[in-house]
Amino acid sequence: MISRNQTFFATAAFVTTSILSGCVVNPVTGEQQFSLISTQQELSLGQQQYPKNQQQQGGQYTIDPSLQDYVNRVGQKLARVSDQPQLPYEFVVLNNSVPNAWALPGGKIAVNRGLLVLLDDEAELAAVLGHEIVHAAARHSATAMSQQQVLGAGLAVLGAAAKDTAYADLISTGSQLGGSAYIARYGRGNELESDEYGMKYMAAAGYDPQGAVRLQRKFVELSKGRQTNGLEALFASHPPSQSRVNANIEHSKSLAKGGISNRGAYQKAISQLKRDADAYKNYDEALKAASNKQYDNALNLVRKAQKQQPKEAAFFALEGDLLAQKKQYASAHKAYDRAVQKNPALFSHWLKRGMVSAQLKDYTSAERDLNRSLRYLDTAYAHYYLGEVYEKQGNVQTAFQHYQTASQAGGEIASKAQARMQGLTNRG
Ligand SMILES: [Zn+2]
Repeated sequence: MISRNQTFFATAAFVTTSILSGCVVNPVTGEQQFSLISTQQELSLGQQQYPKNQQQQGGQYTIDPSLQDYVNRVGQKLARVSDQPQLPYEFVVLNNSVPNAWALPGGKIAVNRGLLVLLDDEAELAAVLGHEIVHAAARHSATAMSQQQVLGAGLAVLGAAAKDTAYADLISTGSQLGGSAYIARYGRGNELESDEYGMKYMAAAGYDPQGAVRLQRKFVELSKGRQTNGLEALFASHPPSQSRVNANIEHSKSLAKGGISNRGAYQKAISQLKRDADAYKNYDEALKAASNKQYDNALNLVRKAQKQQPKEAAFFALEGDLLAQKKQYASAHKAYDRAVQKNPALFSHWLKRGMVSAQLKDYTSAERDLNRSLRYLDTAYAHYYLGEVYEKQGNVQTAFQHYQTASQAGGEIASKAQARMQGLTNRG
């Protein structure tokens, strides 16, 4: 495991060299643009951050693996005809109800299941993915990143935006416990560029560019009504407007007509998501009820969701959160057991079960689970509770090291870790 100090200095050195990069050619438009980081640094940043960003946003959607294959196939088809076909493109579907999509440098792209259910056909999906491919291919994030953001991207893993370490905080999709993910905010110019070149890639890959027109129209409609929860995230990073619709209509005039939309294939690909729409709706409502402190109501809703889709680990993790909130730690532990069983590839399931095990004074299990969570995502919470576990077992030196790591995260968890370090020092 890399210590926090090593990470910090590595990142600081990285930023210092990157300032020397300056002006580069935009690989998509051929125009000059300012960049803080080199292509190599960009690629390694994307490579490093991609799994972390996924963890922080619910992890991969696992109920229907064929949907992952489908989205990746459509993405790779577009990537091959892009201006940077050599980038190590990857496309994943995240288990997240918020309608959103994002790209990290190097072509590391994600789309939430919450966005997929709003689309009607493959051409609309191609419009989303084509747009994100341009952000990566045109190195938009490299130019959007300020020095602070580049620095922040390296440290985000520990920067839990934590208010409190009470069990109420367990009620989240893991994002609170895992810190906030870095997602670039692009300028309007970058958005228009992504729309325009994304449509070119669509046409080149055989898709009907009208899919991009329909997509923008849909976003404008949705932004008017705001009927769908969580759209703010998408619209903050990609503000919809009638002028973007009009621009897309203009671009489509110069592109090949008669491309495919593959409505049937798309509907088939999202059929499991559509069948589970009610289950996820109950889950989202349970989260909302929990945030309003209506814990019993939330429990009823999430148990309904479990019956509708028993394979979804998130439904059992939330049940665990709610039971832990009610201080029913043994039952919470059982719920987390099922979450871990159903999806062992998410840090928060291990972290939460470890926290509850520590509460139940089962320090051996707590140590194992908290360490397991660190394999997926390095969090201040895991370090803080590992500190507690080692302290209880009399291993003061290791406890101190973990508190020290947690203390550098910022927020309340860091203050708590500092207080523990002080306690250990005074005692020693
Ligand atoms: Zn965009």
